[in-house]
Amino acid sequence: MADPQGFMKYTRSDAPKRPKPERLQDWNEVYLQEAPEERNAAVQTQATRCMDCGIPFCHSGTAGCPLGNLIPEWNDLVRRGDWELASDRLHATNNFPEFTGRLCPAPCEAACVLAISHDAGGAVAIKRVEETIADMSWENGYVQPFTAAVSSGKRVAVVGSGPAGLAAAQQLTRAGHEVVVYERDDRLGGLLRYGIPEFKMEKKVLDRRLAQLRREGTKFVTGCEVGVDVTVEQLRAEFDAVVLAVGALRGRDDKSTPGRELKGIHLAMDHLVPANRACEGDGPSAISAEGKHVIVIGGGDTGADCYGTATRQGALSVTQLDQYPMPPTVRDDERSPWPVWPHILRTYPAHEEAGERRFTVAVKRFVGDDDGHVRFIELQQVRVEKDSSGRRSVIPVSDEIEILPADMVLLAIGFEGVEHMRLLDDLGISLTTRGTISCGSDWQTTAPGVFVCGDAHRGASLVVWAIAEGRSVANAVDKFLTGSSNLPSPVIPN
Ligand code: SF4
Repeated sequence: MADPQGFMKYTRSDAPKRPKPERLQDWNEVYLQEAPEERNAAVQTQATRCMDCGIPFCHSGTAGCPLGNLIPEWNDLVRRGDWELASDRLHATNNFPEFTGRLCPAPCEAACVLAISHDAGGAVAIKRVEETIADMSWENGYVQPFTAAVSSGKRVAVVGSGPAGLAAAQQLTRAGHEVVVYERDDRLGGLLRYGIPEFKMEKKVLDRRLAQLRREGTKFVTGCEVGVDVTVEQLRAEFDAVVLAVGALRGRDDKSTPGRELKGIHLAMDHLVPANRACEGDGPSAISAEGKHVIVIGGGDTGADCYGTATRQGALSVTQLDQYPMPPTVRDDERSPWPVWPHILRTYPAHEEAGERRFTVAVKRFVGDDDGHVRFIELQQVRVEKDSSGRRSVIPVSDEIEILPADMVLLAIGFEGVEHMRLLDDLGISLTTRGTISCGSDWQTTAPGVFVCGDAHRGASLVVWAIAEGRSVANAVDKFLTGSSNLPSPVIPN
């Protein structure tokens, strides 16, 4: 039984971060590595703030956790110090809580009943509790390989090793199917490896989970582009089902702004991938912010990743531009009783470290030097309007132009769906108008026996959604192969 007055006794506190100057000297995670006893005691206090609500919005409804994480249950287990059972209950709904604990912007916290009133001290620090249970699980050996008791004799190919593909692969392997994960890159992990900077999640966290999957029997093939190195005919001949978890990495460009063709203007992933490769020991990044004035266009997660990466690379200045206003802080909008929680503010630890954020602005023109390299941007104040069909317009609100130095510009303005790949053509896959892979209510694409999950289906989204879709597609594939399934299916296709 939870302590119903815990939130009145204790205030919310987030995980402590390392000092900013120290963070900027390395690529390690921004959060402090506390001594386990100290960390656990602090997190037990935080878990005690949970009221175990009759209707726990944190893990139910449309706004809470898509995985249906059993948040009040493991909060209470942590409060009582039963970390092993807390680990069991956490892993019951989430294959990779160490990823979500670090990377998820925590819709559960925004949905927490305690977030409704600042008099209540703010939402339960669910993300901190989750990450600590996950780390404790590894430290104490609670995470062990889980091998299937019976083999189904069926074979499944998973294309893509990001969080959706890995979740699907782990679920299907545990259900007794022989699973081979194909990754076109030289290392496993997809966006977790080459998109997410080390300062948000160190790659050793990914590697220890991959080792568990291998011990359970999932097989991996890297450096292999399915559709090219393995043909569709081979795929069809060798596997009973295929899961496409190929992501949605086609970066949105800004072709309409004059000067876009100048050298020094890059899509965000062209900056993040080599930076992550440099951290893996592949040599210096080909696109580095060192000694440059950097402009990041786009106010979301990817923009913040570029921001923190540029800062660590030694940029002279970093400025992040957002067409939207600085979001309201607390209940600015009196029509809504719910406060705006930090993740909706799109504020990340990288923003505290250095640099500047500018809101309600847009680039009017990129200006280059005689060598055709960007050197300045012309900036204008704007507002964003949407018409009745949802189409966005960016409207200048003043003729005044501001000039900012810009030796490097990073476009982090979103993704437009799956990249073009021969595999999709050869399978005869249909795409949606959003550029994602269409599927039926059973996650099956227009190609029989071929399923889709994660960003490739949903469009660029949160890691927690990728894992939820990976788990759900595993249920659908298991049913397709055997006629029924006991695997969980937390979400349905959108
Ligand atoms: Fe606990 Fe908040 Fe969930 Fe209620 S909504 S059960 S207080 S975490």
